[in-house]
Amino acid sequence: MAIVESRSRSEWQELDRSHYMHPFTDYKDLGEKKSRIIVRADSVYIYDADGKQILDGMSGLWCVNAGYGRDELVEAAAKQLRELPYYNSFFQCAHPPSIELSRLLQEITQPQFNRAFFAGSGSESIDTMIRMVRRYWELMDQPDRQIIIARENAYHGSTIGGTSLGGMKLQRAQGGMLVPGIEHIGQPYWFGSDRSLSPDEFGLQVARLLEQKIEELGADKVAAFVGEPVQGAGGVIVPPETYWPEIQRICDEHGILLVTDEVICGFGRLGEWFGADFYGVRPDLMTFAKGVTSGYLPLGGVMVGDRVSDVLIDKGGEFYHGYTYSGHPASCAVAIENIHIMQRENLVDYVRDDIGPYLQEKWHSLAAHPIVGETRMVGLMGALELVRDKSTLDRFDKDEGIGTKCRDFLVDNGLVMRAVGDTIVVAPPLILTHAQADELVEIAWKCLDLTAQAVS
Ligand SMILES: *Cc1c(COP(=O)(O)O)cnc(C)c1O
Repeated sequence: MAIVESRSRSEWQELDRSHYMHPFTDYKDLGEKKSRIIVRADSVYIYDADGKQILDGMSGLWCVNAGYGRDELVEAAAKQLRELPYYNSFFQCAHPPSIELSRLLQEITQPQFNRAFFAGSGSESIDTMIRMVRRYWELMDQPDRQIIIARENAYHGSTIGGTSLGGMKLQRAQGGMLVPGIEHIGQPYWFGSDRSLSPDEFGLQVARLLEQKIEELGADKVAAFVGEPVQGAGGVIVPPETYWPEIQRICDEHGILLVTDEVICGFGRLGEWFGADFYGVRPDLMTFAKGVTSGYLPLGGVMVGDRVSDVLIDKGGEFYHGYTYSGHPASCAVAIENIHIMQRENLVDYVRDDIGPYLQEKWHSLAAHPIVGETRMVGLMGALELVRDKSTLDRFDKDEGIGTKCRDFLVDNGLVMRAVGDTIVVAPPLILTHAQADELVEIAWKCLDLTAQAVS
């Protein structure tokens, strides 16, 4: 008997309350509200224990890029699990899936990337990157270059390394001491600024916070700058076009490593293979996870540019770092098949030339709604800002929890989007059809109406 059929919805909810400590959850709140139990999924839809169909406008957690119900991915995992379910890559061993995936990643990334290091998740890939960056500068005989600069409101996972590098205030405030040697600068969030500058001027100004920070710390102390091409969990913060080229210039001039955290933007989300391609920057390292397997199995990793890998290989000796599940055979087999699907179905081009522009246009039509202050979307990743007053763009009171109210209306009406404060974010599977895009925007408009009614 399938697990799902063995108990009723209320039994699942009761057991959930008693035994399961959820990630990123207010436990008391959950105990009062009960969970929505999701039992199956297909294409872009998830189904709850009552059989209700919901359009998954978040691709799970930004990861199910190729959509649900992909037999090819299931078969790839099953075949690999039968053949070789596990073996490690420590101590001079390897297996075909991890080697083949490294080669395939080299093929779809910029020319400076010839090597991949694997981890089990995005957070682990961030930890790997932090250790690699610092090790690189040790080997370059500049051991004082240890500080990594990231941004406020950035999300880089929730291990100690990820929490330390991330810029989420509430997350960082819990649990005591963090990893030292990490600094944060402002984020390129034009709507969240006083909007006295044009977006392009603002983009330059915020990028130059990096230069100021480097000068304040001394370039000989700074190892790397790390940023998500588009900040995801922070509220789909799409930087002005001037931002990334200026960041590239500053990193180049000061010789510091540039790292893009591609955990969300990688694997087609922006209509290019990676966010760095979309913004035309040349990172030295890229962290990835989520979309690499479309979430079917856990996998993360770091693409290591020649600048860094050459040094680690030539001078490094043993790198005392790695995970039991680095390059897990089944995860790698799924990733290979997932990339093949994306290539066969031209999903990256589909996002860039077809469904991306189609959804973007519809999405921007939501800007006409009385409680929407701004809409943004690049590729298939977007946000809208809820405001009390469209003419002044004044926000609602924080206590009103208007974002959460809107999110609840959305789910009740058959669409998952996420609320980041009063910012509603969306990132549907890349296989979204035109009809599904219409459905998404129709439900969104209806729920904006319901939200507006609920406050007036
Ligand atoms: C989700 C995310 C991570 C963390 O990935 P996990 O697999 O949850 O550990 C890191 N960076 C970014 C940009 C993410 O969105």
